[in-house]
Amino acid sequence: MLIVGNGKLFTRDKEFPYEKDGAVVINGTEILALGKTGDMKSKYPEADFIDAKGGVIMPAFINTHEHIYSAFARGLSIKGHNPQGFLDILDGQWWTIDRHLSLNQTKYSAVDTMIGCIKSGVTTIFDHHASYGAITDSLFKIAEASKELGMRSCLCYEVSDRDGKDKAKEAVMENENFIKYALADDSDMLAGMMGMHAQFTISDETMELAAAHKPAEVGYHIHVAEGIEDLHDCLRKYGKRIVDRLMDFNILGDMSLLAHCIYINGHEMELIKDTKTMVVHNPESNMGNACGCPPTMELVKRGILTGLGTDGYTHDMIESYKVANVLHKHHLCDPNAAWGEVPTMLFENNAKIAGRYFKKPIGVLKPGAAADVIVVDYDPPTQMDENNINSHILFGMMGHDVVTTIGNGKILMKDREITVIDAEQAMAKCREESAKLWKSING
Ligand SMILES: [Zn+2]
Repeated sequence: MLIVGNGKLFTRDKEFPYEKDGAVVINGTEILALGKTGDMKSKYPEADFIDAKGGVIMPAFINTHEHIYSAFARGLSIKGHNPQGFLDILDGQWWTIDRHLSLNQTKYSAVDTMIGCIKSGVTTIFDHHASYGAITDSLFKIAEASKELGMRSCLCYEVSDRDGKDKAKEAVMENENFIKYALADDSDMLAGMMGMHAQFTISDETMELAAAHKPAEVGYHIHVAEGIEDLHDCLRKYGKRIVDRLMDFNILGDMSLLAHCIYINGHEMELIKDTKTMVVHNPESNMGNACGCPPTMELVKRGILTGLGTDGYTHDMIESYKVANVLHKHHLCDPNAAWGEVPTMLFENNAKIAGRYFKKPIGVLKPGAAADVIVVDYDPPTQMDENNINSHILFGMMGHDVVTTIGNGKILMKDREITVIDAEQAMAKCREESAKLWKSING
């Protein structure tokens, strides 16, 4: 048993939102009780104690759109790569990297990503993976890293015809094999989805193949209308809009997750809403790729379950929160935009999305919820309680302020030290593998 106490406890549970000198009691993988530090210590005297030292104790973050394959891009300059648009960025950078990834490099890309997540207080990720140089077993390599690092992971492989029909088929099979493996796993720490790159790289034949091999319990994770090129391609080839094409292949539904949705219209929003399909917004990536600003505020207003991700741009969900906050104010020329919507996406909607794939409640501290807890080193000069905590997170915190991360009851990082693996050794291995990857790309 473990008590994390002596901190300002924010639970995200409406029944008991805040305790000034609070503690959370963890038993195994679940939260057992919450209350005042003194009360919890005297009620559970045998428990180990983690001292939050007056900092903030809150639920760990969930990232609903990550890309492990992009881990070794940091610092890489690809010879001759000078993108003129979104398609150049995809083919010249991301697809070039994923075509060169070996299985071992995928594994260490996952290790690096997960260390970054833990250091930013993230314990649950929805990853969208591609490694067209080594497809089969790639999701199992990532799952190995998930187990070693204690990261709750919903994984998929992005099916695409971009490297030919044989590889598209291999990608479908990798998804099917992994989904079945995850469905049989009872740890509540692994899940799988049928990953799809984006409709503009997937033929009707491959859409049908994916549908035929997708176990009924899970949905799809697909990029939608990230660039205007995706919409133009769909209109030109099929005479219909993107979400209509997805509807025709039964890709929409309450277990499916659409990333981006920048170039969708009101009719497509209605289809997404009517089918209870989930959407994930990645503000920093959309801005960095010069793709445009999605109508995210409109999606939330219409009641579409919209979460917040990072698209591999960062592992820090507070960074994504900060960027989403300013993006929509700037885009709409409205200083009142996004105050409520973005924290709802980050805290409530990401938890609801995770709730469709994992059994125990995540993203909330209450008895019976998964014991995913972080301690943040934060001591503000102003008053703070449950009514203004979001403003404190937005303007006062960043991921690097997380000092302790607990995932599913296990201490993953304490006082900024990763405790589940030898991080120094792992990072040395990452540098070795990334050097090999860079050499294979640039020669
Ligand atoms: Zn993405």
